[in-house]
Amino acid sequence: MARFGIFSGDTSRRIAEADSVAVIGLGRFGSALALELMASGTEVLGIDLDEELVQALNGELTQVVRTDSTKQEALRQLAIDEFDRVVVAIGSNVSASILTCSALLNMKIPVIWAKAVDDQHGLILEQLGVHHVIYPEKDMGRRVAHLVRGAALDFIEVAPGYAAVKAPVPSTIQGIPLGDTALRRTHGVTIAAFQHGDEPWQNADNSTVLRAGDTVLVLGPTAKAEGFAQLR
Ligand code: ATP
Repeated sequence: MARFGIFSGDTSRRIAEADSVAVIGLGRFGSALALELMASGTEVLGIDLDEELVQALNGELTQVVRTDSTKQEALRQLAIDEFDRVVVAIGSNVSASILTCSALLNMKIPVIWAKAVDDQHGLILEQLGVHHVIYPEKDMGRRVAHLVRGAALDFIEVAPGYAAVKAPVPSTIQGIPLGDTALRRTHGVTIAAFQHGDEPWQNADNSTVLRAGDTVLVLGPTAKAEGFAQLR
């Protein structure tokens, strides 16, 4: 993939034609997100006010630009209005986050994701009309709480009250085809995938036979999936 750091609207316009994302705010959250998008093959235009951050990421993202995102005209010059997806990763500077989102909404960006530092900030962004408001600190805190209190190896609440949990396989279902374990009826969960040792993860089906030391991905109501992860 071509990587360049030319700071011009023409270049942004070319990026915007591809399957691309603009990330505004390249702090810890924004830069991690932008680099992950690049790693998965998405073109990224990164924007930050801080010259040092812009220099540090130059060459790592498709294009990096130093500009003040609260200025709608500056965003227009970068052809931001041609992007379908923009992420606003400005947190502690709440007024800059709100002004940036407002400028993007004025420009009718189809999908805007924005980070909120707290519920009040998130509510304002939602009321403005931001399409997806994310709460990284709050979400990570809740996720770690589930890991700390339980035996789960990983935990994601995919929707309120419903979770995906990575856990060791309990002895009671080892050596039996999953179809014969009646897990859904007895425990209210489904085993969606499993891993033998260091082998790649595989989808589980009724004929899957799990062994001691395997790891499973369990889906179900949060309390039930967590309860299953406690079994030994
Ligand atoms: P993180 O936790 O991701 O490091 P944060 O939540 O502390 O960040 P901020 O410090 O408010 O959030 O902002 C994140 C980034 O956004 C910073 O690199 C900052 O320079 C940039 N930023 C803030 N205001 C603007 C602006 N008006 N235009 C462009 N970038 C901005």
